[in-house]
Amino acid sequence: MDDEPHAPSQIRFAQAAPRCGACTRQGFACQSPAMPNGRCRMHGGGSRGPITAEGLARSKTSTRTHGRRSAESIALKRQMRSAFVQLRDMVRATNAELRETEALHRQMLRRLGR
Ligand SMILES: [Zn+2]
Repeated sequence: MDDEPHAPSQIRFAQAAPRCGACTRQGFACQSPAMPNGRCRMHGGGSRGPITAEGLARSKTSTRTHGRRSAESIALKRQMRSAFVQLRDMVRATNAELRETEALHRQMLRRLGR
């Protein structure tokens, strides 16, 4: 058994990997091993989103974590809101009518001297 973590041939193979080459903050070319996109793990850049039609379709379904902003849900919310406004107006109208009736009732009681 040898104590070497990697065989010399493996080290040579790793060192032969293409380099990133991105311009570092020190002004030098980055020497880290490049990924398939040509840049290292630190200079790979952010994801630009799905590229293939399949990936886009998958993304569209997978990013929907809840249905709170789906077209169906928005339509339902509008319906609920308009029903609420209608009910609120009915309650307000009924309350106004009730106040009028109570005022008339009080007037009548006063006239009758009670
Ligand atoms: Zn790099």
